[in-house]
Amino acid sequence: MIIRGAVLREMGLPQPYAESRPLRTEQVELAPPGPGELLVRVRAAGLCHSDLSVIDGSRPRVMPMLLGHEATGEVVRSEAPGFAPGDTVGFAFVPACGGCGPCAEGRAALCEPGAAANTAGTLLGGAQRLDGVHHHLGVSGFADHAVVSARSAVKIDPSLPPEIAALFGCAVMTGVGAVVNTARIQPGQSAVVFGLGGVGLAALLGAVLAGAHPIVAVDVVPEKLALATSLGATTAIDARPTESSAAPTAAPSEVSPNAAIPSGAGPSSGALNAAIPSGAGPSDDARTVTSQSEPASSAAAPRTAAPTAAAFDVVEAVREATAGGADYAFETVGSAAVLGQAYAATRRGGTTVTVGLPHPYQLLSIPAVSLVAEERTLKGSYLGSAVPSRDIPRYIALYRAGRLPVDRLLTSTVSLDGLNEAFDELAAGTSIRQVLVF
Ligand SMILES: [Zn+2]
Ligand SMILES: [Zn+2]
Repeated sequence: MIIRGAVLREMGLPQPYAESRPLRTEQVELAPPGPGELLVRVRAAGLCHSDLSVIDGSRPRVMPMLLGHEATGEVVRSEAPGFAPGDTVGFAFVPACGGCGPCAEGRAALCEPGAAANTAGTLLGGAQRLDGVHHHLGVSGFADHAVVSARSAVKIDPSLPPEIAALFGCAVMTGVGAVVNTARIQPGQSAVVFGLGGVGLAALLGAVLAGAHPIVAVDVVPEKLALATSLGATTAIDARPTESSAAPTAAPSEVSPNAAIPSGAGPSSGALNAAIPSGAGPSDDARTVTSQSEPASSAAAPRTAAPTAAAFDVVEAVREATAGGADYAFETVGSAAVLGQAYAATRRGGTTVTVGLPHPYQLLSIPAVSLVAEERTLKGSYLGSAVPSRDIPRYIALYRAGRLPVDRLLTSTVSLDGLNEAFDELAAGTSIRQVLVF
């Protein structure tokens, strides 16, 4: 059949996308589903920063590709057991084969054949049902129809509005999962969330759900901070550089994914030093720490820059709000510099969970001794360490019970032809979640 979808043929076109138009609405031949696959009529698909990262080239994928990985729809034709026409499904952006090592351990988010298929731009098992166009993360939801592996799909409550249901596949599963699966936060433990996009705000909702206290939210957009406060953050910290700290900025060529928190490079260097307690070692360590604490992506920010002495110190503000440092810090920006801040903002024994996807060239420098001397933990969280078939229905049930108000993440709905303009808004940080609806 012929479908209409948003195809990306070239990464890295300049902004604004309203002019360069990286996404083109094209007619593409879609082959019928093979064994174990479903034909789905897509009802809604969220615009995620991971789509933007393919568009801007910071997360390169095979081209051309039909984007969109956070979606929901109705099964039209099923070639897989357990699914029938009329079923409402949500998608997970990593298919779970069910048989590999990670799947056998219950770590479906790390499925090895699933990751290989995503890298190749195919469905699980290697099929390519779009004629001459690659699949995005096994979903390709920016189209009126999709053929997916049933291993990418989860049956969900059909009564949810599609623009809400779509959010569970990426933002909610990733953000809430980082808190409840990766961190396993306990009631009364403190948490800080760096970056208040869809995933960051979902992590905040997860922290509220888990009973974390206090909960600190950090961003550079006042409206997002206000939203975070209304969702349960006890302290909101505006990380924008003060006048005195505005001078040292990170190297622009490397920091497009960092743009959301441009102040990250400056304050973190100084604050990371301050995070090392005097008991951590002799003065030699402190000197080593000073040099290590400079994030690789902030070479342009002189660590001894005089203005930083007077600059607003994000890390110190978090430490103040959490009585000396957070038990858990969540980094959702996709910036090594911000990850350094998050790490520095935890207390002794604290855990830093990173959810963002920095450009592959970004390196993280942390004081190595702090892992031992302060028993700090640094953990990655992919897809919220989720088992999608378990977690998506759980999170939807919590939403229906009023315990997980993910509808508050929805900024607006858009049409297929409005995607380029919508990605300009996402890049500018002026939206949380925009959802394409059909
Ligand atoms: Zn996503
Ligand atoms: Zn697997």
